[in-house]
Amino acid sequence: MAADELGEFERIRRFFAPLAGPGGLGLLDDAALVDCRAGRRLVVTADAIVAGVHYLSDDPPELVAKKLLRVNLSDLAAMGARPLHYLLTTALPAELGSAWLAGFAQGLDEDQRRFGIDLLGGDSVSTTGPAVLSLTAIGEVGAGMEVRRNGARSGDLVWVSGTIGDAFLGLSLLRGGYPGLASEHRASLIGRFRVPEPRTELGPLVSGIAHAMIDVSDGLLADLGHICETSGVAAVIELASVPLSPAARVIVAGDPDIQPRLAAGGDDYELLVAAPGGSSGAIAAMSSRLGLPLTMIGKIEAGSGVRLVDTDGRVIPCDKTGYRHF
Ligand SMILES: [Mg+2]
Repeated sequence: MAADELGEFERIRRFFAPLAGPGGLGLLDDAALVDCRAGRRLVVTADAIVAGVHYLSDDPPELVAKKLLRVNLSDLAAMGARPLHYLLTTALPAELGSAWLAGFAQGLDEDQRRFGIDLLGGDSVSTTGPAVLSLTAIGEVGAGMEVRRNGARSGDLVWVSGTIGDAFLGLSLLRGGYPGLASEHRASLIGRFRVPEPRTELGPLVSGIAHAMIDVSDGLLADLGHICETSGVAAVIELASVPLSPAARVIVAGDPDIQPRLAAGGDDYELLVAAPGGSSGAIAAMSSRLGLPLTMIGKIEAGSGVRLVDTDGRVIPCDKTGYRHF
């Protein structure tokens, strides 16, 4: 059955109402009700994705749902916030049937349990164009504990979580690149592109230390550039210290010229943190507590712009604009 044959109310009742939390009132009222705790601030972010632009129409709907949710959770983490709720608006073409919607809702359901969030409401409409999926995530942070992009200072060290460049390589593989790569490496890189891992635990934990923070969506160099611009500082990053996954290291071993591109490629959804030099011990303790690598990759200086350098300090020329979409 095509999704629009179900009608809007049936579509909401069947696929979205089961995802609603107590504040969503069963998606039966005019609006949701949210309690605000004293001494906390709500942190709100939204992202929309379009079929054929941000994902492929034949991508598995479970994975489309998870990526849509997780990119928003990553933005909350980058402010130091814990996720609480979300709103969802879908504009779907008639040819997306109930099987697609069921898969989409299942992906949301799995991630709701995993990240401890629930649906508050939204809208569900039909369109004659491509599918448009828009999600608004709401989190909370202790007032004054939020971490913005504009607080980096000269002398801060720059840290990044996890590994960088995997999503860029995953997209390259989907486009036919590196056909000889071993299947376990292929699966891990494509997985990193399709379903990012938002650092929802790290963000709130590091918020007491970080001077500035951003999540890596446009690319490590471009996003560090956003911190530098808003903070009025410069940054220098040593390429050799940018952390790579085992799969990325295999690719770089055979294609060394790709390495600077990994620092520019987007969609990593790792957290990039500028923190004072004296906090290295605390950051190392966080890393072992979370079982998540946190790597020092460079430092903040006076000036402007981001320089990528080799181990001798020579500037490596590269295109700093990440690119993300199909
Ligand atoms: Mg962001």
